[in-house]
Amino acid sequence: MNVLFCHLCKVMLRAATLNKLGLKRNNHINRTHKGVSHDQFYTVRPRVSIVQSAPGRLMVGGWKCSMCLQVFPPLPHSSRLASIDAHLDNCFPGKQRISNAENCRRVFMTMGGCKIPRGQAPAPKAFSTAVQTANNQ
Ligand SMILES: [Zn+2]
Ligand SMILES: [Zn+2]
Repeated sequence: MNVLFCHLCKVMLRAATLNKLGLKRNNHINRTHKGVSHDQFYTVRPRVSIVQSAPGRLMVGGWKCSMCLQVFPPLPHSSRLASIDAHLDNCFPGKQRISNAENCRRVFMTMGGCKIPRGQAPAPKAFSTAVQTANNQ
């Protein structure tokens, strides 16, 4: 699988071969970014990258672990999912492993979010609002 990332609209383009990917990129430029240079906005990402978490402040669109409280910045979708999975495996080994929904719920509660049943993720909008509120304090 070959992957390109469009920095302009934060979209991943995927194709089985580099040739097909080149075509997809050209189509994407023609449709969405007429006149934009090819190499200016695209980076080849040969495989999904797993990002290491770091201490810091949770940003809107980012992710935070309810166990070690480390964060990811906002990431491209596939990289985000893979990184979260790897991180949760690490912080919640074996039977303790929680879902990302449950993790978001726990983080949400620590930010003063309203009570939600276990295993159920807060609404994305409510979550972003809680992040913004926490960052403004
Ligand atoms: Zn684009
Ligand atoms: Zn963690």
